[in-house]
Amino acid sequence: RIAYVNGQYVRHGDAAVHVEDRGYQFADGVYEVCEVWQGNIVDMPRHLDRLNRSLTELRIDWPMSRAAVEFVLRQVIRRNRVRNGLVYIQVTRGVSRRDHYFPPEDVAPSIVVTARSSNPDAARAQAEQGIAVVSYPENRWPRVDIKTIALLPNVLAKQHAKEQGGKEAWYVDSNGYVTEGGSTNAWIVTKDGAVVTRAAESGILRGITRTVVLELIEKEGLTFEERPFSLEEALEAKEAFVTAASTVVMPVTRVDGRIIGNGHPGTVATRLRELFRTATDLQAV
Ligand code: PLP
Repeated sequence: RIAYVNGQYVRHGDAAVHVEDRGYQFADGVYEVCEVWQGNIVDMPRHLDRLNRSLTELRIDWPMSRAAVEFVLRQVIRRNRVRNGLVYIQVTRGVSRRDHYFPPEDVAPSIVVTARSSNPDAARAQAEQGIAVVSYPENRWPRVDIKTIALLPNVLAKQHAKEQGGKEAWYVDSNGYVTEGGSTNAWIVTKDGAVVTRAAESGILRGITRTVVLELIEKEGLTFEERPFSLEEALEAKEAFVTAASTVVMPVTRVDGRIIGNGHPGTVATRLRELFRTATDLQAV
């Protein structure tokens, strides 16, 4: 395997950043994960737009031009022969003697790109089965709209979910509302058939998959509501699912051990997954 680190393509096993990288010391950086489908980077422009937003919010410069980043992404995918999988980009504020203040102007941001293949059959099998989610108290900072590498709360929430037999954690805020998953956006389908997901104005990352799925829902003429939903409402829902570049649309069949709907992936979630795939098939052509 090959990784890209600050201007060089290196063997994955040898890929390393400096001990004084601010990503390492302060989690002072941002990232993106894009799906690779049939050799194409799914929704790459939207991911790079969001990367730009994350960088701007944290006042980190682009490590190189956007066109150069696109080129590197494609190179890393090609050099690793990834047809289906994920590509990861991380940008940090660079390497400088440990000090909380921003480093001197001449310190360049660091960039790392890696890619790995995944098994589409395994993903399909997972989607046909659905996943269990486990609720977890929301304990993250308020700026979850920025895709930062500071993911310790997410690590702890997801590990808790795993130890409870789940695949994903659903954060629940102090008002009892689900915000989002540890690495996914959260959705339900109500008994009336309305698709519900929290508005992206507060409490969540504006997922690229979320945005695309909302567009598909509109195109299909399904009823949807962008509003908070409570854990209680989720437990009574007809369907539930999560979205992310890494999972696409993934049906949820259990929340805190309670069966959702009939315990099988719902028709809406399944349909949205198919529509998403059709759209990405078209992008790949
Ligand atoms: N919410 C969180 C906290 C995430 O980490 C992610 C993805 O990693 C998402 C939502 C989904 O975003 P996207 O659809 O852009 O992958």
